Amino acid sequence: MKRGRGGNPEPVERLIESFTRMPGIGRRSAERMALHVLRASGEEFEALAAALRDVRAKVRHCPYCWNLTDRPICPVCDEPSRDRAQVMIVEQPKDLVTLESTGFYRGVYHVLGGLIDPLAAVGPEDLAIRALIDRITAPEHNVGGVRVAEVILGLNPTLEGDGTMLYLAEQLTPLGVRVTRLARGIPSGSHLDFASPAVLADAIAARSMMPGPHPE
Ligand SMILES: [Zn+2]
Repeated sequence: MKRGRGGNPEPVERLIESFTRMPGIGRRSAERMALHVLRASGEEFEALAAALRDVRAKVRHCPYCWNLTDRPICPVCDEPSRDRAQVMIVEQPKDLVTLESTGFYRGVYHVLGGLIDPLAAVGPEDLAIRALIDRITAPEHNVGGVRVAEVILGLNPTLEGDGTMLYLAEQLTPLGVRVTRLARGIPSGSHLDFASPAVLADAIAARSMMPGPHPE
């Protein structure tokens, strides 16, 4: 049998290599995952294969907020009682889930899918920023055709988060939309943790206007 780099049969080596491409998975973890797959029962194996196929076939980005969803529009955008004129910018779908778990925020979201990070070669064009600008400049691209009045920057106050928020303020302020950022109740460089509605309520209530070029 043909052997791969690690002395494993080539198909096993390819599986290990696929796992090592996942975030946070090193070679040893990838080997353990591959071993687990090899030892799995037929039923367990089929469930894993079906889950991989389904996530590819059924999960897509919401056309308004870029949240992940298995419906044509995500449940947040689809809820008529939400304030669609207020858009909170978050980095990843998991941040949206965290904010939703507090039950406090009643606006809608926009999921960037990452942060601007020149060292990792991630530029504005790699994120859902064009779609955000479309949502603001053309209300028919926002949920329910509502004009966006305020964008709340809800990114983590890390180096990349702060840089991305500054970039967004520069791009969005000239469009005549109010651009604010959440109050920092936590030290710069750490991650937002809205475990309690009270913390989020404070961060929203004390939000501040972003500096940026203002319309003439
Ligand atoms: Zn949505």
